[in-house]
Amino acid sequence: MTRSITERLAAGVVLGAEGYVFELERRGYIKAGPYVPEVVLDFPDAVRELHREFLRAGSDVMVALTYYAHREKLRHIGREDDLEAMNRQAVRLAREVAREGDALVAGNVCNTWAYDPGDPATHDAVRAQYAEQLGWAVDEGIDFVISETNDYLGEALIALEVIQGLGLPAMVTLASTQPERTRDGYDYVEACRILAGHGATIVGLNCDRGPYTMLPLLARIRETVDCAVAAQPVPYRTTDAAPTMESLHSEGVERVFPLALEPFGCTRFEMASFAAAARDLGVGYVGICCGGAPHHVRAMAEALGRDVPASKYSPALELHPILGTAGAKHAADVLAAWNVVG
Ligand SMILES: [Zn+2]
Repeated sequence: MTRSITERLAAGVVLGAEGYVFELERRGYIKAGPYVPEVVLDFPDAVRELHREFLRAGSDVMVALTYYAHREKLRHIGREDDLEAMNRQAVRLAREVAREGDALVAGNVCNTWAYDPGDPATHDAVRAQYAEQLGWAVDEGIDFVISETNDYLGEALIALEVIQGLGLPAMVTLASTQPERTRDGYDYVEACRILAGHGATIVGLNCDRGPYTMLPLLARIRETVDCAVAAQPVPYRTTDAAPTMESLHSEGVERVFPLALEPFGCTRFEMASFAAAARDLGVGYVGICCGGAPHHVRAMAEALGRDVPASKYSPALELHPILGTAGAKHAADVLAAWNVVG
């Protein structure tokens, strides 16, 4: 019997891994722009493989790839008829791989782009989209639900209600794309406090911010709420001047987000440091979002003191032909050239 999300949080840090959409786009299976996970039906093996890579890297949770698999988005790309099949298949794939280890399966919903705080009709439409997606997910078998990338507290609260109606633990995280506040005007910390007050099991932030600009907000959230806190940053070097991946810019590049972010990528070491820093702050669910890849996750797992299946192939640079101890002696001239400071 696998332990529940609440049991795992009580015992220590839960390691998550996301970034499926960006990574599968990079691999040629998802179209940038709409970012709809058609891959779930078109190339299920590609999804299975990435789940397996994250599992081997130490992720405790397999997140069903239903991000943007909601009616609003599928209508845009003319695949509304595939909605149910895509949602069901995504959960099946996550479950199948979760069973290869000891991972939990998370259902997943996100911002719908249909929500308008001033228009109650849109609230009903959002609720209906979440209800149908999560109804299929529950049918296929999930352990809890992650509602993520929420721009509006109001929309996040609708997701929370739907999840609670299904009797499942809810992890609700906000997209902190603006400097201070959700798009409906709530300070991010206050929004997390409200979500916690409404009974979310885990609250926090995901996506948009890199470790450097997410940690200060996390510290304030941790001080404010009593429930578990989640942190899933993007592995990009965001700064005070450009606090989100969307605001990063580079000389001579018209737009860095979303397709030219590589020069800003965090190394595995930076993500390992983030994982340790988040744990030290008291963050209970530590993960990664868009841009995340298995090498980051393994380094994060190891920073949390774990030995995971992929640790079998963790670096052993002492065995490198040049950098290793033997190489340093026999190829001193090569190493000297590598060490020239330009
Ligand atoms: Zn993301």
